[in-house]
Amino acid sequence: MTKFFYRLFFICFVLFLTGCGRTSPRHYTDTDTAMGTVIIQQIYAKEDFTDEVLTCIRRLETESLSKRVEGSEIFDINGEAGKEAEIPLTPEMEEVLSRCLEISENSEGAFDITIGEVVGLWDIDSWAGMSTDNPDSSFRLPAQTELSETLALAGYEKLTLENHGIRVPEGMALDLGAVGKGIALDEILALLQEREVMGAVISVGGSILTYGEKPDKSPWKIAIADPENQGGSIGVLTLTGQCCVSTSGDYERYVEADGVRYHHLIDPATGYPAQSGIRSVTILTKNGFLSDALSTACFVLGEEKGMELAERYGVEALFVREDGSISMTEGMQSYFSLSKPEK
Ligand code: FAD
Ligand code: MG
Repeated sequence: MTKFFYRLFFICFVLFLTGCGRTSPRHYTDTDTAMGTVIIQQIYAKEDFTDEVLTCIRRLETESLSKRVEGSEIFDINGEAGKEAEIPLTPEMEEVLSRCLEISENSEGAFDITIGEVVGLWDIDSWAGMSTDNPDSSFRLPAQTELSETLALAGYEKLTLENHGIRVPEGMALDLGAVGKGIALDEILALLQEREVMGAVISVGGSILTYGEKPDKSPWKIAIADPENQGGSIGVLTLTGQCCVSTSGDYERYVEADGVRYHHLIDPATGYPAQSGIRSVTILTKNGFLSDALSTACFVLGEEKGMELAERYGVEALFVREDGSISMTEGMQSYFSLSKPEK
């Protein structure tokens, strides 16, 4: 009888070991492009979900968020600008737009998705960290009058969002460039939660999602780019579980002309790239939409008001000032470690 039990125990133990081998997660990686930026995925799971994640981002881009893609919901909304009748919205778009309006109100208009025409006037899509020294550059500084006229068409307070529809005034264009990648992180998170994923870190341009854990249980390490030298980093965030990290920086998209750097973070008060005394803002929170929207808003607001906005939303923020020095919310200090002595 005892022998029988020993045998049974041995068989169970062998089955347990084989089972472990079969079910242990593998490390899948993928690098691709979508939303005009690079998507880098690292997923620890039993199956490869990287294609599904990419499809999810591209579907969001082409069906909903990209003002450049004919047939997307935002493209169609912009096409209906100036019409008397309300443009009907999907529940998802209604939620996105109302959350955007709330951030606009709370940031005193520093964040404003109605500046699409101003963004178009600067031709930001054609910038990729290039300089006008580049002979291919087609950069043209918009004339002041042209800029003022275009800016006059913008203004979030002119939007009417009611009855599950929106009215967009003539000449206005909506641009979700400041939140699209964060929205993508939230969709990806929902997808990973539905699948058997042990852990993942997924970067959609300047917005990064961490989820779950690695097989060795070590924390996620997210580097924050050095605005002076993007190959390097100013420091690292040590994170566990689900986090969203978004950085808005003046080095991401810019043109230099006559010694001036024109970047893609526009101050809706002037129509010019924001001059708020900082080079970058990093926001850490659990929600992708918030991290992306607030990184843009805080950049435009600058350190003092940006810090207040971050505290109001209960998110962590880190600012890199123009002189390279750093300031951050108290909570951020427990995640951040410096990779070089502060200037
Ligand atoms: P963020 O701070 O997150 O966003 C900056 C962007 O938001 C600006 O580029 C501008 O569009 C807008 N913005 C600027 N100032 C403000 C403000 N004060 N308030 C609100 N919004 C503001 N780029 C391409 O070149 N080609 C593409 O095909 C393309 N497709 C895209 C599709 C989608 C769905 C999205 C979301 C972006 C796309 N982009 C494309 C844009 C590209 O990825 C941008 O570089 C990116 O959106 C800027 O992100 P960021 O994280 O650097 O800065
Ligand atoms: Mg943003």
